[in-house]
Amino acid sequence: MNIAPSSFNQANYSLKELQDIFSALNSSIIVAITDRTGRITFVNDHFCKISKYKREELVGQDHRLLNSGFHQKSFFREMWKTIGKGEMWNGEVCNRAKDGSLYWVKTTIIPFMDENDKPYQYIAIRVDITAQKDIKKITHIAYHDELTGLPNRRKLEQRLEYEFHQSRRNGEKFALFFIDVNRFKHINDGLGHIIGDMFLVEMANRLRSIDFTSNSFYRHNSDEFVFILNDTSRIDEMAKEILSIFHESFIIDTYEFYASISIGICVFPDQANSIEELLKNADIAMYAAKTTRGNYYKLYLPNMDDDNDKWLMLETKLHQALKKDLLELHYQPKIDLKTGAIVGMEALLRWYDSDLGHLPPDRFIPFAEECGLINDIGVWVLRKASIQTHHWNKVYGLNLQVAVNISPIHISADGFVDMVRDVIAETKIDPSTLEIEITEMSMLDYTEKLIQTIGELKALGITISIDDFGTGYASLNYLKKFPVDVLKIDRAFVQDIISGKSGIAMISAIISLAHAMELKVVAEGVENEAELNVLRKYGCEYVQGYYFSKPLSAEDFTMNILEKVDSH
Ligand code: C2E
Ligand code: CA
Ligand code: CA
Repeated sequence: MNIAPSSFNQANYSLKELQDIFSALNSSIIVAITDRTGRITFVNDHFCKISKYKREELVGQDHRLLNSGFHQKSFFREMWKTIGKGEMWNGEVCNRAKDGSLYWVKTTIIPFMDENDKPYQYIAIRVDITAQKDIKKITHIAYHDELTGLPNRRKLEQRLEYEFHQSRRNGEKFALFFIDVNRFKHINDGLGHIIGDMFLVEMANRLRSIDFTSNSFYRHNSDEFVFILNDTSRIDEMAKEILSIFHESFIIDTYEFYASISIGICVFPDQANSIEELLKNADIAMYAAKTTRGNYYKLYLPNMDDDNDKWLMLETKLHQALKKDLLELHYQPKIDLKTGAIVGMEALLRWYDSDLGHLPPDRFIPFAEECGLINDIGVWVLRKASIQTHHWNKVYGLNLQVAVNISPIHISADGFVDMVRDVIAETKIDPSTLEIEITEMSMLDYTEKLIQTIGELKALGITISIDDFGTGYASLNYLKKFPVDVLKIDRAFVQDIISGKSGIAMISAIISLAHAMELKVVAEGVENEAELNVLRKYGCEYVQGYYFSKPLSAEDFTMNILEKVDSH
């Protein structure tokens, strides 16, 4: 038989001669010969050794016996296409030994052609590269985050080292973006770690889609990511692009929700002298961005240092304020539009610190949510508001209902309903005079648990309202699932009434929607007669706003509101 390997220089060996050569080769080369269908006709000793099969277990068998399942079908289809044409094929293949272990071989397959120029057998020559593969894998693991596949902190350190020296050598600048997920704790604790992990994976994928080739996103820590940008003229553009990937909701498992991030940016060497300082200042800028709530980015400014010290201090201060009863509640009256009577009030948190001055709740509530103080604050507010309301109703013979704002984090915490029950028992407040406001955002983390919680609160006799309605993205379908009683129209819509636009249309739509669902409507932030008239026209039940009264301290509420009501 004349063997004419197409890719070999026309060397003529008999099959027997080849087999002898391969058998004699006492090297690490792994050799197999198969017929045109892939049936094994010959293996050398080394083949047996690595595959852990005996020769007689191999010869006569289909070569697919060694398939590991690692490769896609198309991988082998391509291989067969190549060798079927009589061309040599090279590749790295993962095989499975008899004991189930995997090994990697660098493989060359040489087709041997018959007189009609058709391959009639194949010789495969392989070298074991398992060790190299493992090293590659180990290096990959060492420098990549297991969950998201993004380069990790170690890799980031290398990159920063590199950029630092580059910058020192040729004076080029680069920017470091510190990206932090807002309220990640909320997602993680509320929906569970698995959903939290899946969210981070999806987030990493979205980040990767921005920067596909240059690998400049790093996972720094649980929900912290870092982005390195060499072209500092594109800082704003890139920050906006990163923020924009959060405009779309995350659909994870059966949940759909929105997430937001805060980005702090620091430029080397303009705003930092060392890598540590670069990271520290980007972190400071990130905190500054966070305090503005929502998707936001901020460039580091030198005076932020003081701000950051303030923030570090803030946690301690807030702790103390809570412990020493330095927080205060103000009350804004709620008016029945039909009768003009005051039917209740919303309790709004106030904090005055002797160093920091007045801190608006919009600034410290998000912070309290981040640092985990929000639940204690919520309990404090509920207790304080209940004591006050019970007192007022008793003294003035009224039936005022107090509305308390509860953070989404708090309401989804274990034991929330038990805590409310305890507060009711302790303060003796009539539960029908208690209302709990949850934001539309809480509903997005829709869980059976929240529906159940609301049901249990209602069973206690408490009224439940949806705050800031229209600002989140809750769909009507969501709303229908929650057994709530009241919708609070966000101030932004009320303000749109006079600015023209679609304000009136929106207001009338929200009111008729609420009524169709048998919900009462409260409009907040009413500042003038014109707004009031529109709200009255469309049948809004209750209003709150500066037009009637700003939130007042308990004393002022007693003096300016209750004493006057009483004297009528
Ligand atoms: P919110 O629940 O939407 O409260 C209404 C906000 O609008 C209050 O701001 C109130 O003072 C203000 N406001 C009322 N009427 C008018 C008006 O006619 N015009 C204008 N421009 N504003 C008006 P505040 O007290 O600064 O509270 C801000 C946010 O902080 C609240 O928004 C609420 O989300 C949160 N918050 C306040 N107290 C608490 C609390 O005890 N617990 C929790 N979790 N959040 C609270
Ligand atoms: Ca509210
Ligand atoms: Ca509101």
